[in-house]
Amino acid sequence: MMQSVKPRVYITRCSRYHYDEMRLSLIKLLDPFGGINALVSSGQKVLLKPNLLAAASPAEAVTTHPLVVKIMADLVTEAGGKVYIGDSPGSDSQDKAHQAAGYRQVMDETGAEMLLLNEVKEKKSHGNRVRVIPLAAELDRVDLIINLAKLKTHSLTGMTAAVKNVYGCVPGNHKKRFHMEHPLPLDFSKLVVDICLAVKPAFSIIDAVVSMEGVGPRRGKPRQTGLLLASENPFALDTVAAEIFGFMAEQVSTIAAARALNLTGSVLEDINLEGLLVDDYRIKDFDRGVVAAGKVSKLITNFPLAWLRNMRYARRPYPVLDRDLCTGCGVCAENCPLQIISFEGLIPDIDHHECIRCYCCQELCAEGAIKL
Ligand code: SF4
Ligand code: SF4
Repeated sequence: MMQSVKPRVYITRCSRYHYDEMRLSLIKLLDPFGGINALVSSGQKVLLKPNLLAAASPAEAVTTHPLVVKIMADLVTEAGGKVYIGDSPGSDSQDKAHQAAGYRQVMDETGAEMLLLNEVKEKKSHGNRVRVIPLAAELDRVDLIINLAKLKTHSLTGMTAAVKNVYGCVPGNHKKRFHMEHPLPLDFSKLVVDICLAVKPAFSIIDAVVSMEGVGPRRGKPRQTGLLLASENPFALDTVAAEIFGFMAEQVSTIAAARALNLTGSVLEDINLEGLLVDDYRIKDFDRGVVAAGKVSKLITNFPLAWLRNMRYARRPYPVLDRDLCTGCGVCAENCPLQIISFEGLIPDIDHHECIRCYCCQELCAEGAIKL
């Protein structure tokens, strides 16, 4: 549940994806919040919502590691809860993505069920970007949601962690439509914040045992960072994570959006760190990627209204094709919200005049053939 008073964030170390070590770390992480029994009551239906961006193997660090999902499924089951696993990936089918990420095996081993997020149910938005949000209707079938995010760089929002992870609760093509309607990072991020407020995850955990640096969220470099973070408040959790990984708040547009909306947890000083010092956990030299590390992102995030339409698009990095890496699979064209990627034979061609720099093509290209 999101707190109106000083939100708590807890951090613990976990050096590798090993069942016993990680189980102890996750139990330690849950302890300051009263343990799993304070979160889950017997008989409750619990959705574990990982980051399932695409059909990618755990080693690529694109998705939340299956061991985090498995151990949380075990803990919820031991507390008497019924576990569901679900997310709506950006491009691949849910079945294929669950299989590749290792969640199918988790379901076989734990008895958890896949919750397909297909149907749309419009929910009233309490934010300011849209009046209604098309959320997955299946979310109504569970009693609470535990948000299992992955820490990665992100070409549009700077960083993706707990808040951006909830965007996967918007099914299928509505995600593309939102990119088209809200192309600027801060506008888009205000919408993501609205979605997070509507979904209301009961608890969020960030898997930063291996994070993704560089050109995230699909083709960045996995980096062993050895941390797990947790909070009841996803905004506070991301604010602390950004600080640890060297992002300024204005380089992460979801945090900037939460600040603009005066949300609890969007300022570090207002977060209860349970006596932990951020300095003890800092990840030095984390490659924040071309977007978050650049001055352009800072300017756009802070002064979006000062930019004329053409200028604000032109000043942001644009997608370019690496022909040597492209396999001609067509995923970029299928997922471009503006449908401005055409094919000349096997090679895609991007109409840069019309491009809104949403980076869906770069995010979903499994070959890393689209650079910024
Ligand atoms: S750029 Fe990537 S997604 Fe697009 S066709 Fe080539 S390989 Fe496929
Ligand atoms: S070409 Fe890529 S960045 Fe441009 S609008 Fe299409 S998906 Fe977005």
